[in-house]
Amino acid sequence: MSKILVTGGCGYIGSHTLVDLIENGYEVISVDNNSRSSEAILNGVKDISGKEVKNYAVDLCDFDKTKAIFDENPDIKGIVHFAAYKTVPESVEHPLRYYRNNLYSLINLLDLTRDYKVPNFIFSSSCSVYGNVEDLPVTEETTLVRPQSPYGNTKKIGEEIIEDFSKVCDSKFIALRYFNPIGAHPSAQIGETPFLPPQNLMPIITETAIGKREKMYVFGTDYPTRDGSCVRDYIHVVDIAHAHTLALDHLQKNLHSDNYDVYNIGTGNGVSVLEILQSFEKATGKKLNYELKERRPGDAIAVFANKNKISEKIGWEPQYSLEDMMRTSWAWEEKRMELSKEV
Ligand code: UDP
Repeated sequence: MSKILVTGGCGYIGSHTLVDLIENGYEVISVDNNSRSSEAILNGVKDISGKEVKNYAVDLCDFDKTKAIFDENPDIKGIVHFAAYKTVPESVEHPLRYYRNNLYSLINLLDLTRDYKVPNFIFSSSCSVYGNVEDLPVTEETTLVRPQSPYGNTKKIGEEIIEDFSKVCDSKFIALRYFNPIGAHPSAQIGETPFLPPQNLMPIITETAIGKREKMYVFGTDYPTRDGSCVRDYIHVVDIAHAHTLALDHLQKNLHSDNYDVYNIGTGNGVSVLEILQSFEKATGKKLNYELKERRPGDAIAVFANKNKISEKIGWEPQYSLEDMMRTSWAWEEKRMELSKEV
């Protein structure tokens, strides 16, 4: 059983990936300083997988403390690196906070990857590296323009650092560029717990439906899309999690010839904001109180993936439908409400 270090294992995609790795025979440990997450999520991971996951509450920007994890676990065979700040508006307001946290931590981990001869490394990247794209669907060959936010730029620079490093290091690296992750584990034991008030669509929908928000807004109805609202490629978090397991399997079996490669993780289907609202209402039977509003500054009109590369090279295919995404997001919101009443 290979031991995998998951950074940010208490986070949204990290916790789902812990479950998926365990279910596929990997041994996992987590490092998460819980600055924006709670170790309590590991109880959910245990309920689903039957495994207690050890978490090191260490800040990856602290090289010595991070090194101590590798000294204690010299048998780490792979790293899946999620730990990072990810709130776009916060990154615009505090760019240095984002560059410092997201890049120092990556550089420290890469040093340790080399020093401890960890053969495989998966990097959590984002479709925000594509910036405001014009040619759709987006392929891995699409030219990267400057990302719209410092957050997106930390992912783009992170990829560049890894690509440069892969030329002088024996390890193999894969960057996965997620489109719009939504949904929660079907058990409703784990899901997204926003640290700051969410600004992205799915948690705003569920918070409105449950009454945490009185109403929500659809930002922009005059875009040149089929119904005037923006189009995105929403992808279920469990499908994203499984892409990491498959990417690691691929590297472990030495099927990957390149030292560094990138893959899109999206469904390939563009869905509009209004379609999402309808889909949520249909899947859950909940009526959403929403108002049409002017465009939100900085929003791209439409972004969706071409997923052929990962399908063909790694054999990943999304399994969850849009309806599943809506149902599981809602079940998790209800569960969170239940938990907050218990406290
Ligand atoms: N959106 C919206 N109302 C909200 C939050 C988001 O209409 O309260 C729209 C937003 O304008 C965008 C889409 O939903 O067109 C997806 O936004 P999100 O922030 O979730 O993802 P991103 O824009 O980063 O892809």
